[in-house]
Amino acid sequence: MPKAIIIGSGIGGIATAIRLAVKGYQVEVFEANAYAGGKLSEIEFNGFRFDAGPSLFTMPQYVDELFKLANKNPSDYFQYEKLSEICRYFYEDGLRLTASANTHKFAKEIAEKTTSSEKEVTDFLAKSNTIYQVTHRVFLERTLHKIKSYLHWDTLKSIFSFGQIDAFRTQNTANKHFFKDDRIVQLFNRYATYNGSNPYQAPATLNVIPHFEYHFGAFLPKNGMYSIVKSLVKLAEDLGVQFRYNQKVAEIVYTKDAKPKISGVSVNDRFLPCELVVSNLDIYFTYKNLLQHFPAPEKLLKQERSSSALIFYWGMDNYYSDLGLHNILFASDYKKEFDTIWQEKSISTDPTVYINITSKQIRKDAPNGCENWFVMINVPANEGQDWDTLIKDARTNIIKKISRVLNRNIEKDILCERILDPRTIESKTGSYQGSLYGNSSNNQFAAFLRHPNFSSKIKNLYFCGGSVHPGGGIPLALLSAKIVSDEICPVI
Ligand code: FAD
Repeated sequence: MPKAIIIGSGIGGIATAIRLAVKGYQVEVFEANAYAGGKLSEIEFNGFRFDAGPSLFTMPQYVDELFKLANKNPSDYFQYEKLSEICRYFYEDGLRLTASANTHKFAKEIAEKTTSSEKEVTDFLAKSNTIYQVTHRVFLERTLHKIKSYLHWDTLKSIFSFGQIDAFRTQNTANKHFFKDDRIVQLFNRYATYNGSNPYQAPATLNVIPHFEYHFGAFLPKNGMYSIVKSLVKLAEDLGVQFRYNQKVAEIVYTKDAKPKISGVSVNDRFLPCELVVSNLDIYFTYKNLLQHFPAPEKLLKQERSSSALIFYWGMDNYYSDLGLHNILFASDYKKEFDTIWQEKSISTDPTVYINITSKQIRKDAPNGCENWFVMINVPANEGQDWDTLIKDARTNIIKKISRVLNRNIEKDILCERILDPRTIESKTGSYQGSLYGNSSNNQFAAFLRHPNFSSKIKNLYFCGGSVHPGGGIPLALLSAKIVSDEICPVI
């Protein structure tokens, strides 16, 4: 049986392992950490459980697909439910909106409380659908780097419809055109942050993102986000995949001839032979650390990185009925916040604060009478800023902001705390500069500038995960695994 080695057990690596095991490969996954999941992980302390990374789950069908591929019943491994309420929005001027999964209800609430109309919302969501229809097969589900992708009829149709994807104005410019009320512009501008970009620079093509939430839905796994990882690792193990934890791969080994070809990897000074290698770690470190003697695509690696995050995990000694599972407390000056992140590479004094509280739905995630708050703000990628000072100031500003907006002193309720910042994101998950989604999507060519899912120079070397095509976030990392697997022949 030919052997495939996967480097890294992020969601993309696990999904690739499953797909290759189904194709008949003997698969071994090497993971530097003591646990699987990479950015998608969890932490527990003082009786509280937190999903440490992603908190919003969309496109669960991509997870289900893996169980079905292995002829298993998805719900035997993994359960999730669709949310009826997607997010609660809070503005400094007192406006509060609840984004219902029922878009008519949401549009009606917007029309009742703001100067925007129901029609503005429905027109916007129709545009979001159009962009999805034009882009998903071309940009998300296939490699962009092989001629064969462009020979499909649906790809050609999409290419002829490119004018509709709104690539030549910024997301903010488009949204100002769609909505009269600046607060609704702000609400839909926020979707640029879903792949770590800046709505004042990124193309309006990113208006495709709300389609994932409002058309396909937002979901919550019954046992929290980390159960995605646990259930997929279980499936992979049932298929014979072997996970090796605390095993950092030092080098990707290839034949040194005119047509280099994978021969194995090196781990702890041991050479492990294999037929093919899939690297799931950040493409930057794949080249800089594991392929040190191979010419790297320097231009690609120098591209601007997506933003990072600063997260406070707070065990709260109280219930907050104003808050739901997902909550956004908007900055008063959104443009200024993004200028501070992207131009000054710093943190705004009035950042937009995201609060995720899984114990609202999963009671066992916090002790009785308590809640588990995941409090996150967007921050620049790590370029050596004075993070200790920035974090100290941000903590004060965040506490002041939440207390002001909820009209309640929250500081006294913080029982215990852990912090994740760009430096620790980099050291714990191997993400260059701690960015959450690989390169940013701040220019309209970003989709074409991501690294392909295969090496054109070393035969049998492949790449998956959020730093390569088609991009970051759980759904796209899962699609990268599909694209890799589509390039690899089954074992006969
Ligand atoms: P990664 O998670 O990047 O994992 C790579 C793995 O490789 C790690 O386990 C690492 O330890 C391992 N590794 C590195 N070097 C080596 C080596 N030399 N040898 C062996 N192993 C190695 N996405 C969403 O969809 N929704 C969200 O709400 C969301 N929010 C986020 C919030 C935060 C705070 C973060 C950090 C991310 C968020 N994301 C979200 C993004 C999402 O988590 C990532 O895009 C996705 O999990 C990336 O998966 P990946 O396959 O690229 O692997």
